[in-house]
Amino acid sequence: MKHVYNFSPGPAALPKEVIQQAADEMTNWRGTGLSVMEMSHRGREFTEILATTKRDLRTLMSIPDNYKILLMQGGAIAENAIVPMNLVGKKPQPATIDFVHTGHWSEKSIEEAHKYAKVNVAASSEDKNFSYVPARDTWKLTPDAAYVHICTNETIGGVEFDFTPDVGDVPLVADMSSSILSREIDVSKFAVIYAGAQKNIGPAGLTIVIVREDLLGHALPICPSAFDWKLVADHDSMFNTPPTYPIYIAGLVFQHVLRQGGVAAMEKINIKKAALAYDYLDSTDFYINRVPAANRSRMNVPFFLKDESLNQKFVAEAEQHGLVQLKGHSSVGGMRASIYNAMPIEGVQALIAFMQEFEKKYA
Ligand code: PMP
Repeated sequence: MKHVYNFSPGPAALPKEVIQQAADEMTNWRGTGLSVMEMSHRGREFTEILATTKRDLRTLMSIPDNYKILLMQGGAIAENAIVPMNLVGKKPQPATIDFVHTGHWSEKSIEEAHKYAKVNVAASSEDKNFSYVPARDTWKLTPDAAYVHICTNETIGGVEFDFTPDVGDVPLVADMSSSILSREIDVSKFAVIYAGAQKNIGPAGLTIVIVREDLLGHALPICPSAFDWKLVADHDSMFNTPPTYPIYIAGLVFQHVLRQGGVAAMEKINIKKAALAYDYLDSTDFYINRVPAANRSRMNVPFFLKDESLNQKFVAEAEQHGLVQLKGHSSVGGMRASIYNAMPIEGVQALIAFMQEFEKKYA
């Protein structure tokens, strides 16, 4: 089989061992004669898969007992509506939501929230083309906001929070789609964490929501029942049929991460991988990354060729070297190497070796 290193931003590479195990179990899960895809979500086998998957996520992230784990559908973009529909109801209407605007994905959250609440952009890095995270002491928060929303890692801009903000008693909500499980965080500092699965967790189609229990039960009347967190929690993520196969794969990924030593071990290697990439980028002016060191994403490394007319050649020659899906997001151009948990350090080394060779050839 052709060996490639897959730098896709998502759906992204999964650990090879997980793909292999899924292949081995595809037609006959543990002697049942059934594929997981064919199992009733209420049957004994899948009930066990679901329970183990949730238990392992709780262990990996040290999720306190007063938080529910919801396994939903709709992705992070649906959560941009689901979050306000579940959280603003606790406040007199119209409620205000505070946002920190750090790039493309926080902007999407802001746009959607306008339908459900007053929006206050408490801080923005627009002045420098969304290349950094505004310092906490510059944020202009609303005293009784329904919640404060941040995107901990801007997948397109390659800008990542290097701190967990203290916002007092106001609930802190985080879109962690592209950084979940990549670094240790203190879940108790957040009221809600949500993430699409398709970067560090598993296939697209599964959305993880981690929510503090006291926030349940305030959904707006317009909130679809399937997206009312209280109903989802009361039905153990079985209010509707959950995305069973992605949940199963997520469970295999969680076990894989546990075997590697958990999130702390992932973080250690992610620091090394990111340092390799950025140290190299900083050592040459053939390639450019403008994000200040403290806010450089460990997961998504965007860079530009100084001579952009070489972009097509770069992508094509990288592919010939087995380095695939390096093209940057269409809104910003350039390149982007997404180096999630499943990217081994050898993949980053191979990328740098190719980039050096490419520079020699065309500089
Ligand atoms: N937020 C972030 C940080 C993302 O990276 C993405 C997807 N790349 C989304 C939201 C949107 O996710 P989805 O398309 O699964 O709804």
